[in-house]
Amino acid sequence: MSGSFLPDRAHGWIPGERLARREPVLPAPEGAPRVGVLALQGDVLEHLRALRRCGADAVAVRSVEAIGDVDGLIVPGGESTTIGKLLVRLGLMDVLRQRVADGLPVFGTCAGMILLSDQLDQDVAQPLIGGLHVRTRRNAFGRQLDSFDTRIEVAGIEGGPMDVAFIRAPRVEEVLAADVEVLATVEDHAVVVRQGPLLAAAFHPEVTGDDRLHAAFVATVIDAMPAASAQG
Ligand code: GLN
Repeated sequence: MSGSFLPDRAHGWIPGERLARREPVLPAPEGAPRVGVLALQGDVLEHLRALRRCGADAVAVRSVEAIGDVDGLIVPGGESTTIGKLLVRLGLMDVLRQRVADGLPVFGTCAGMILLSDQLDQDVAQPLIGGLHVRTRRNAFGRQLDSFDTRIEVAGIEGGPMDVAFIRAPRVEEVLAADVEVLATVEDHAVVVRQGPLLAAAFHPEVTGDDRLHAAFVATVIDAMPAASAQG
């Protein structure tokens, strides 16, 4: 076996091995930014593939060491309560909050957007990473629109509207600080926001094969890498 995919990295692992055998995760080019996908629960493998297609060294992470070792991180969709509880139980929450505070580029999609939010529009508390100055409402699109595919224009993304999937998606109810930019809306509510190195999308960009948001995030990661700019 060539071993050119499913690399067994020191601090990472690639889940879904049987699936991956059918559709290999592309090997990363030399010097590529290392972008982790938080792999506790949810849609991990599709993000790894999208990141690889965008030229990143994509690794699944679920340890303190792995979180410390990445240049950027995707927090995938799934179930935000489950992911949040696992972050606490596995002792990852503090290191993740610290890295966000230190400026790590993080892209939260769907449940990941919920987890990045400073506040939720609900009475019940759940563990959040926070850092993104928004108040977010879970499962915000009513029954009719519970899950739907749509095309939306995202500011800064060239080439026309993106094909995306909303799956029991959240939306931003309120932007809490001036440094939060709204990049896309649905029904007048923000569904893509950016705050410096933090990017959040209410939908799943990884299931439709449209990699433009992943590519934009990888570009943000490269910009934030001190070594890369020092080396020119
Ligand atoms: N409804 C889920 C939550 O509240 C998010 C759904 C998703 O990530 N597709 O966490």
